[in-house]
Amino acid sequence: MSEPLLKVENLKKYYPIRSGFFQKTSHWVKAVDGVDFELNIGETLGLVGESGCGKTTLVNTILRLEDPTGGTVRFDGEDLFQLGKEELRNTRRKIQIVFQDPFWSLNPRLLLKDIIGEPLKVFTDLKGGDYLKKVEDALETVGLPKSAAYQYPHEFSAGQRQRIAIARAIILEPKLLILDEPTSSLDVLSQSQVLLLLEDLKKNLGMTYILISHDLSVVHYMSDKIAVMYLGKVMEFGDSDEVFRSPAHPYTKALFHSIPDIHSRSLDDIVSLEGTVPSPVNPPSGCYFHTRCPYATDICRSKAPELLRHTPGRLAACHLLETNDTQS
Ligand code: ATP
Repeated sequence: MSEPLLKVENLKKYYPIRSGFFQKTSHWVKAVDGVDFELNIGETLGLVGESGCGKTTLVNTILRLEDPTGGTVRFDGEDLFQLGKEELRNTRRKIQIVFQDPFWSLNPRLLLKDIIGEPLKVFTDLKGGDYLKKVEDALETVGLPKSAAYQYPHEFSAGQRQRIAIARAIILEPKLLILDEPTSSLDVLSQSQVLLLLEDLKKNLGMTYILISHDLSVVHYMSDKIAVMYLGKVMEFGDSDEVFRSPAHPYTKALFHSIPDIHSRSLDDIVSLEGTVPSPVNPPSGCYFHTRCPYATDICRSKAPELLRHTPGRLAACHLLETNDTQS
């Protein structure tokens, strides 16, 4: 079988907390704490979890916008953390990102031809007619007229501005597009239009996505795989439809409890999320979720569970599931 497009192994990102006169590191914020996953070409991975669980830090570390504390990331056959400056620059053009708020991510003083064409200026020698043609093609790909090249961002609606951001992200034909809450600042109609556009791009251009979203319906609609994160760790990973149909980890169950049609399905199986997420500076012993898990036992308090195969294609980090799995 061919190598996955992206392979993340034991990825860690700890931020130092410095204190005292000499600003010595006294503690670490364990924002990403040993994450593993793989993503194949053409797949969409949904990253979900409560605020502060490490989703953004995870993608920033993959992109090397943050220096990793440990682990490896292989992307398109290369070890990203071993690349020199120039090699990294070349690889960066293959990974692009679309941010949540298209209002802030587009420079209001520039024409669209300069905003959308910015990656062309950074990474190619295209000029004049060839440059403009690329910009116009990108505009048409996202459903905007060529004439928009000579307009400013404020002349467009929020949904159209997100299309502009997507045009800029795809103009270099990246292999991986990271979508960080791409629809959360949009009204419902614009949301569905942007989601349909992303689906079309995936079909027509063979795009691979990592999608970060708090909107579980959007994640369910868009994703082939899903990673459920809690305090910097992946608690459950698997086929999106399967995980949504029958979540295995108590944390996933609790998270999905917020979706009406899922939580009404099996009242016996509901896990309510009590309390708040513990601090990543001083995470709980054993399973990080044990302080909020109604099923926690002694082993959960003392030993960290590994992310193990629960059922075919499904990984979960829970001692109770391991036990169930062994017994069945
Ligand atoms: P949200 O859903 O709210 O965007 P998230 O899941 O993306 O949250 P992150 O933003 O990755 O979470 O943050 C993970 C943890 O790392 C949080 O506790 C956050 O406070 C901490 N953190 C993020 N950046 C830094 C930093 N530069 N220095 C110290 N701690 C940081």
